[in-house]
Amino acid sequence: MRILIVEDDAALASGIARILDGEGHAVDVMATGEHAVLGARQESFGLVILDVGLPGIDGFEVLRRLRADGESAPVLVLTARDALDDRVRGLDLGADDYMAKPFAMPELAARVRALVRRSQAQTGPKIVHGPLVLDTLARRVQLSGAPLDLAAREWAVLEVLLARVEKIVSKEAIIQAVASWGEELTPNAIEVYVSRLRAKLDPAGVKIRTVRGFGYMLEEFKEKKAGQ
Ligand code: CA
Repeated sequence: MRILIVEDDAALASGIARILDGEGHAVDVMATGEHAVLGARQESFGLVILDVGLPGIDGFEVLRRLRADGESAPVLVLTARDALDDRVRGLDLGADDYMAKPFAMPELAARVRALVRRSQAQTGPKIVHGPLVLDTLARRVQLSGAPLDLAAREWAVLEVLLARVEKIVSKEAIIQAVASWGEELTPNAIEVYVSRLRAKLDPAGVKIRTVRGFGYMLEEFKEKKAGQ
């Protein structure tokens, strides 16, 4: 999942980013509320972690603007001020959860997992494509009934392709969906992830076609007839 962290404390932001990256999420960090509001208009995030104490507009104002824009991603609010007022205000403005600083990283990670579970439960956690089953809740993949190991980036590329079966997906669109901002992810890297996916999926008849000069397409799955 793509997660936006809005936090002006660079050390704290990178600590949070590291732990979420380790859980397989693509993470973007923004240090001001203005950037966060603009960023959320341009990109789609699955979750927002939002500090209240920001330079310029504060976290409450950011939250108000996000919800006014129709942003429906869950928002976890962070504040140094452990005041009931702040908590109530955040929840009134549409925050989904709240943590007072200082907090332990494992607790933050657990809260994020809970929010991700809750939001994915609403969309249906399993994606099925022929013999391929992605359990987005448990982050497990099965191929023909057997567990399949996928690296976090391979998983992310596969999710993008699965969302558009029989449609051409450009390398740029895959990079957009998979990469964190500021991170170097080249079309060549996408080729590497796709070729690893192919090596794993081809034997079961799940085909990713190369569309020269454009990108890739996950073909509709067709059952093999007996004798083929
Ligand atoms: Ca702050």
